[in-house]
Amino acid sequence: MNKQGFTTGIVHGDRNAGGEHGGVRQPIHTSVQYGFERVEDLIGVFQGTKKGGFNYARQGTPTTAALERKITSLEDGIGSICFSTGMAGITAIFLTLLRAGDHLVSSRYVFGNTNSLFGTLRTLGIEVTMVDATSAENVANAIKPNTRMVFVETIANPGTQIPDLEGIGALCRERGLAYVVDNTITSPALFRPKAVGASLVVNSLTKTIAGHGAALGGAVTDTGLFDWSAYPNIADDYRKSPSKEQGLLQVRKKGLRDMGASLSSEQAHSIAMGAETLALRVAKCSENALALAQYLEKHEAIGRVFYPGLKSHPQYEIAQALFKGASWLLSFELRRADRMIDVVNALQLPVKATGLGDTRTLIIPVAPTIFFEAGPEVRKSMGISDGMLRLSAGIEDIDDLIADFEQALELAA
Ligand SMILES: *Cc1c(COP(=O)(O)O)cnc(C)c1O
Repeated sequence: MNKQGFTTGIVHGDRNAGGEHGGVRQPIHTSVQYGFERVEDLIGVFQGTKKGGFNYARQGTPTTAALERKITSLEDGIGSICFSTGMAGITAIFLTLLRAGDHLVSSRYVFGNTNSLFGTLRTLGIEVTMVDATSAENVANAIKPNTRMVFVETIANPGTQIPDLEGIGALCRERGLAYVVDNTITSPALFRPKAVGASLVVNSLTKTIAGHGAALGGAVTDTGLFDWSAYPNIADDYRKSPSKEQGLLQVRKKGLRDMGASLSSEQAHSIAMGAETLALRVAKCSENALALAQYLEKHEAIGRVFYPGLKSHPQYEIAQALFKGASWLLSFELRRADRMIDVVNALQLPVKATGLGDTRTLIIPVAPTIFFEAGPEVRKSMGISDGMLRLSAGIEDIDDLIADFEQALELAA
């Protein structure tokens, strides 16, 4: 069959891969062990000579493998590995592909727990330099002889900064560096990091892809663009595989298998169901987020609004050029930070909760919660003010959302 469109590919993926009994969905395989008629086959699975086989569920099940195929297809990659959470996927990349003495350059604007993980990497002897990656020049200036990898997020949470994705891609290609892009906020429905030369793509499946706040999961996808045979940190055991496969193979063995943050079949099933409506949901959420951002920008009680779909956003042009929509993530500041608690409490629809990419609109004050532990210095360097609110736009009817803000913001007049 010809290469299918984005949503067609997801909703028919399981059936086209040969669902049992004509099932249109891959069943939830709960077996931990997988047995074989002939022991040669068991040996083949262990040695990797029998492709597509399963032996022990920590390394994957037919249900997680079906989800991995879907993510690979969504990201137009050559392979994916699913993990129990997005953080597990990110941790597996850093711990299996970097070694003590290596240097990582990261955007300064990253997810709070990723930022915290960098602290752990430093204790293990991995150097991390964080730069303002909205300029590729800042990344270039940070590169040293021991730099191995560059890490960015497509749209940073909560400030919505967008790195110079193309410029950094060109730089990494020129310097032979692995380019890791966290695509969680945009998701492959809005953007494929392969288009800017990413080597590995991370998605927290928990957010946009699962989309209903009902399952945790993460995925790492290899775009096939990076030449792992030239990467110094691949163990000899994995050098025997074709060069394109070496990176992901090492992440699967040393990361998923040895560290054990495996996705369960039940969660994989739930994520796969969410993925079926991914494109529909992000289109609606992006539309709602843009309408809310435009409404808030005009409201006298509101200071700055951070949303890449607004012409006032510093990276508006990049968002227009690279993304199919500006996503559900939007942040804004009340002019009167002292009214923040009352305003948020007055909101009836948005759920006062952390979390992102849900069908329901979620709202959270940033400084006293998700970036509390980071401390005032990190908050300042990331542009997070005390009055900043982060919103994840849901799929509700926009008139209801705006009416709700209208009444709540009266308290901040
Ligand atoms: C939530 C998030 C993660 C971590 O994902 P979990 O599934 O919650 O572990 C990583 N990166 C970004 C950008 C996120 O928003």
